[in-house]
Amino acid sequence: MRCKICGGGGGGEGEGVCDRHAEAERRLREHFKVWTERTGLGWAEYLEAILKNERTGILVKEAASYLLQNGR
Ligand SMILES: [Zn+2]
Repeated sequence: MRCKICGGGGGGEGEGVCDRHAEAERRLREHFKVWTERTGLGWAEYLEAILKNERTGILVKEAASYLLQNGR
C-alpha cells in the first residue's frame, strides 16, 4: 500500500495512507467534533482553519490539505 498523501508506506496493493498520516487524520477528525460544536462551522471550513494555523504540524496539514481536495 502506498500512502495517498506522501507516496510512502511500502509494499502491498490497495489504497490508503501511511501510519503517520493515518494518525494525523484520526487526530483531525477527533478534534473536529469539538471544533464544530464550538464554531457551528463545517468540515471544509475546519480544514481551511487547520491549514492557516501556524501551530499545526506538517503531517496534520498534509492530511488536511488532502482531505480538503478530496471533499471528505
Ligand atoms: Zn503518508
